Amino acid sequence: MGKSVSKLVRGCITQLTPYSTARDEYQGELGIFMDANESPYENGYNRYPDPHQKALKAQIATVKGVAAENIFIGNGSDEAIDVLMRVFCEPRVDNVVAIAPSYGMYKVAAAINDVEMREVQLGEEFSLSVEELLAAADEHTKMIFLCSPNNPTGNSFPREEMMHLVEQFDGIVVVDEAYIDFAEAESLNTEIAENENLVVLQTMSKAWAMAGLRVGLALASEQVVGLMSQVKYPYNINLATMAIVSELLESPIDDKVVEIKQQRALVADALAESSVVKRIYPSDANFLLVEVEDADAMYDFLIARGIIVRNRNRVRGCEGCLRITIGLPEENERLLESISEYEKSIVR
Ligand SMILES: *Cc1c(COP(=O)(O)O)cnc(C)c1O
Repeated sequence: MGKSVSKLVRGCITQLTPYSTARDEYQGELGIFMDANESPYENGYNRYPDPHQKALKAQIATVKGVAAENIFIGNGSDEAIDVLMRVFCEPRVDNVVAIAPSYGMYKVAAAINDVEMREVQLGEEFSLSVEELLAAADEHTKMIFLCSPNNPTGNSFPREEMMHLVEQFDGIVVVDEAYIDFAEAESLNTEIAENENLVVLQTMSKAWAMAGLRVGLALASEQVVGLMSQVKYPYNINLATMAIVSELLESPIDDKVVEIKQQRALVADALAESSVVKRIYPSDANFLLVEVEDADAMYDFLIARGIIVRNRNRVRGCEGCLRITIGLPEENERLLESISEYEKSIVR
């Protein structure tokens, strides 16, 4: 990596005087709060939350094995994606590169920030081409987005290839690991200490079962975390969320992750027997990408039985595919029964 992070940042962010609170200026035990125009009547929520989220970061640091200084907490990883755009990309000047097919939010965040998105289609079996990603980049490319395990394809990319990109690219490499808990591969978060330009996104929304609370993480160098923290809304994580996340982090998720992986294998095996299923892609995530005979027809059939899956038929590279999230064992059973019914309903 040639350019240092400070050279990649937008000028307006370098010059920014971030919002600060009076409580940032005073260290020690505070008793009487007359600085923030809050209500003095205690109800559990009358005070502003900690804008630095110190307590929650310390807890997440322990769970993830990452230093607290290397953690940015966002209102979902979606906030982290948007904040990264705003830190590094000058609207209408800079651009970003992403793999395709992949998670839709990279493109949406780029569009909202008026930043050009250059997509590089994955190769055979949804493989990564580091050379093609580098070839799509120019001097205005600030970030390259990878997602591993990838949504919606389900596969992970080889660690050496992703790290090769981190080493070769003169900008920020963002690796979205929303599904890492379901994969056999290790997180790239062990590489952030040595690679100032690597940002690893993780989330509480999938394996940690907290999608409704909206908490996502960017694990990165202190420089990048510092810049992101200046740009986020000061109170982006509210008191109620922090309290509930803290409590839920105390209960391990290992048993549930094991069950989902077992169910993923069972569902894949059962689907492989079906005459309406053409292909089941290998998955390191909590979903299966399945190519079927007539994706729209099967989608409608399942909807009529109260089962909603994701129709990816119109996504380039996923033609004919449905993306099916692994549910409870009984829900997966219902899905398989409905697909058998669909199979029988087709006149051949
Ligand atoms: C679900 C998902 C997320 C999670 O986003 P949150 O805003 O944290 O809920 C992030 N990235 C990918 C690829 C996802 O599929």
